[in-house]
Amino acid sequence: MKTALISDIHGNLEALTAALESLEKRQPDKIICLGDIVGYGANPGECLDLVRSQASAILLGNHDAAAVGKENLAYFNEFARAAVIWTKSVLTPEQKDFIAALPLVVKQDGLHLVHAAPKNPQVWDYIFSYYDAGDQFDAVDGRICFVGHSHVPGDYREVRRRDSLAVHSADPAPPRRIVNIGSVGQPRDRNPRLCYVIYDTESDEVQFIREEYDVETASAKILRAGLPVFLAERLFWGY
Ligand code: ZN
Repeated sequence: MKTALISDIHGNLEALTAALESLEKRQPDKIICLGDIVGYGANPGECLDLVRSQASAILLGNHDAAAVGKENLAYFNEFARAAVIWTKSVLTPEQKDFIAALPLVVKQDGLHLVHAAPKNPQVWDYIFSYYDAGDQFDAVDGRICFVGHSHVPGDYREVRRRDSLAVHSADPAPPRRIVNIGSVGQPRDRNPRLCYVIYDTESDEVQFIREEYDVETASAKILRAGLPVFLAERLFWGY
């Protein structure tokens, strides 16, 4: 089975539309969204409606939670806070009810899915590197966990220390794996192209897909909405 995983769309309709067009060509069996559909970008409601028409599962992200009053704004930097306040003002009551009911954790088809990190998903830890992931492997239920949140794609595998005197002892469980699927709407790995993942459950292959999208339009809309200039500029830098 081919599962597409998208995350951190952040109200960027141009990036989401391009990602869905790219997915149309690849024909996955299902699409799962790891959260943060809203925040930062100028089309949060449109992105939410589009994702819920396509995704078989959607998780709650920290920006989603903040936009419906489920997360403290003190946690956010000034740019994110301005975007959350603006996002709150444009989502409909029905859209907010939908977001408020989203889960923090989903486990299906042997996949462990969270927005931020598996250990304590509600504290929104960031996984930018192997060092961040190392702390999290023990919390992975099963063999593989998919996360978003840091907007930096990565494929991390657990390294187990083996007893050198018992090299032939059987290792009971295979090493666990945490895959950060990157961000559709605001990549931060200095690559402005949108990012998502296709996971093949039979071959265990993780494929990172990068695609160009209309950054100019997405950026201009952020400025037109009166959101911070930095949020418009960073899309060009991929940071
Ligand atoms: Zn995010």
